[in-house]
Amino acid sequence: MGHKVEPRQGSGPGVNGRRESRAWRPSWRRLNAREIDAYDLIPGDLARRVHVVSIPFLPGSYVAITLGRFVCIARDIPDDGTSELLAHELVHVGQWQEVGKARFVLDYVGHFARGLREYRSWNKAYRGIAAEVEARTKATSWCQRCL
Ligand SMILES: [Zn+2]
Repeated sequence: MGHKVEPRQGSGPGVNGRRESRAWRPSWRRLNAREIDAYDLIPGDLARRVHVVSIPFLPGSYVAITLGRFVCIARDIPDDGTSELLAHELVHVGQWQEVGKARFVLDYVGHFARGLREYRSWNKAYRGIAAEVEARTKATSWCQRCL
């Protein structure tokens, strides 16, 4: 549901000396044709109904959160179908669609609570949520394929 960015992708000068932009520009858009084609992690008819909402910030180190077909992102992302972050969130869109809103939220929170009890670590609990493991795995392998 939420997404944290690994430190390697942090702020400051990136590879090629390019600065990663953190400035917020309000936007609310649908995926374009190229993205719908590129992000084949979910069916095209679902991808066409996704809303990508730019928001100024999220609590903690979260940079994105998906609520149903609404992907809220507190970071500038490319619109050319090459964003691993968006790919990750689209896996969550598919999960919401597949199991339904109530089931998704209950499972997500349940896994998180169990993880917190077990690991006593917010981050470990988050990383162990089944929906997150699946999104991470799928988005990572999707990204490798595109290299
Ligand atoms: Zn996630």
